[in-house]
Amino acid sequence: MDFYARHAAMRSGIRLPRVWLPGKRGIYVVYERDRGSSRHRGYTAAWDRASQQFKRQHPCCLGCKAVGKVTAVDVTDHVEPHRGDQAKFWDSSMWQPCCRWHHDVVKKRLELMFDSGEIGVADLWLDSRAAQRLTRRLQPRRLDADGWPMG
Ligand SMILES: [Zn+2]
Repeated sequence: MDFYARHAAMRSGIRLPRVWLPGKRGIYVVYERDRGSSRHRGYTAAWDRASQQFKRQHPCCLGCKAVGKVTAVDVTDHVEPHRGDQAKFWDSSMWQPCCRWHHDVVKKRLELMFDSGEIGVADLWLDSRAAQRLTRRLQPRRLDADGWPMG
């Protein structure tokens, strides 16, 4: 079960399967019984092939391109979180090429905003205005030799 499914389940009050294990100092820690493998969640060999092909056709990160930078694509991202929905998963019109940083930092932030209702699906594209704003705000500044940001 991925983050979103878990999040949605928690919000709707569904109790997830859990296993209780003794932790340090007698404190009990809750673990999910089975997160499910990424294969199980749809990331199969067929996905690998489709993703590779998509990345060949879209060699640059969309989020970087939107702010005038050229960065090689690293991840095929589902614009709208598919939450295991196979129709959404395979809808290549809703895929976007992105670098690791955009995927892990900017997109993650956008999806949290999407989940809380702050932004809509259109803003999940990494060249949307919301995304560009985040990119500018969060992009790593280059560090000077003394370790402080340049400029
Ligand atoms: Zn990028």
